[in-house]
Amino acid sequence: MRTFGGFKSGEKFFYGEVRGDEVHVLAKPYWIDIQLTGEVRKLLEVDVDLPVAPSKLIAVGLNYADHIAEMKRTPLGTPLIWFKAPTSLLPPNGNIEIAFPEHQTDYETELGVVIGRAAKNVSAAEALDSVFGYTVGLDISDRDLQKSEKQFGRCKSFDTYTPVGPFVYTDLDVRDLQLELRQNGEIRQKARTSQMIYPVAEIISFASQSLTLLPGDVILTGTPSGVGPIKAGDQLEARIGDWPPLQNRVINAD
Ligand code: MG
Repeated sequence: MRTFGGFKSGEKFFYGEVRGDEVHVLAKPYWIDIQLTGEVRKLLEVDVDLPVAPSKLIAVGLNYADHIAEMKRTPLGTPLIWFKAPTSLLPPNGNIEIAFPEHQTDYETELGVVIGRAAKNVSAAEALDSVFGYTVGLDISDRDLQKSEKQFGRCKSFDTYTPVGPFVYTDLDVRDLQLELRQNGEIRQKARTSQMIYPVAEIISFASQSLTLLPGDVILTGTPSGVGPIKAGDQLEARIGDWPPLQNRVINAD
C-alpha cells in the first residue's frame, strides 16, 4: 500500500507521498505523475489538506440493501449516479457547516474511489485498471431538500458537505473492508464494502458508458444503513479498514 495526500505549509500547497512520518513532496498531483522533487517534510510539521481535486465528483445512491430499506426506496436495477459540486469537498479535520440548521442534515459514510487513468466505455473486467486509489468520504445530505427536489445535486453540494481523506491509498483490494462511522464516539454505521450491490468495478463501468472519467475524478460509492442527523458540536469519525480515520467537527454556517 502506498499513501498520497495534499498538504499545506504556510500558504504553500503541495501533493506528497507519505512514508512513515515523512512526506515526500511531489512535483505534480499524484494522479498525473508520481515525480518526487527530493524535498522531504515531517508529517507532523505540515497541515494535512484536501487529498483530491477532481474535475467531477460523482456520487452513487442506493448501493446497500439495508440503506435502501431504511430510506423506504426500491432497488432500481442499475447503479444510480449523480454529481456533487467539487466545491463541496472538505479537508480532514475541517468543519462541516450546516447550511440550514432547521433541516434534517444526515451523515453518510462511503468508500471513495480516485481515478488514475481516463476511462470511457470500459468493461467491469477492465475497470479497476483506471483506479488510482481509495479514500474515505462523507456524503452530507440535506434531507428536507432531498425530499422536496427530484435532483440530488443541490441538497448534497453545499460547501463542506463532502469531507474526504485524510489520504488516498493505492495497491489495495477494497472488496471486503469494514466501514464505520462514529458520532461523538458512538458507532452509528458499521458494514462491509462486500455488501455493496454494485462493486467499484461495476460502478466505474456503468459511469463510463455515459461520461469520460478523468484522472483525479472521485466517485463516492454509496452508504450502508445507519444514516442519521448531525448537529452543531458533533464530532464525526469515519473509518474504512485500518486506514487513518477521517475526522470532522460540525458547526452551523454563519
Ligand atoms: Mg450518499
